[in-house]
Amino acid sequence: MPLPPCRARKSGRQTLSLATSNGQGTAMRFCTAINCMDGRVQLPVINYLRERFSADYVDSVTEPGPNLILARQEPEALVQSILARVTISIKRHSSVGIALVGHYNCAGNPASKEEQVQHLLAAVKFLRQQYAGIPIIALWVDETWQVNEISDV
Ligand SMILES: [Zn+2]
Repeated sequence: MPLPPCRARKSGRQTLSLATSNGQGTAMRFCTAINCMDGRVQLPVINYLRERFSADYVDSVTEPGPNLILARQEPEALVQSILARVTISIKRHSSVGIALVGHYNCAGNPASKEEQVQHLLAAVKFLRQQYAGIPIIALWVDETWQVNEISDV
């Protein structure tokens, strides 16, 4: 999916406001990760997404194997919990993009990479039905903890 060019980033910014948009020109830019709870993938995903969406901050919604949960759309309570948290990120932080993450050696979704990619594709399709007008991408974190964007989503 084509994305707008990276915004010029203000350098030397020293102060941060708690408000995302306080009317004083200090708006902070957020994106959203629907990530696994696995500690090994947190920093790689955050670092990747800050670049990918030119974001200052990455809101993290974590579950074990969220690609499986969203692909199956069950358990329903977890699906609703994930969506509620993503909605807060979109509405309150004006998130500019959502990434769904699957990874190697996942305890929550022990399927092969090939199967997990299918889960990612199905889950992204579901998410796009929930959230129109915001880029939604799929990421695969491999056995070297490198982040790879699934391009055929
Ligand atoms: Zn995992």
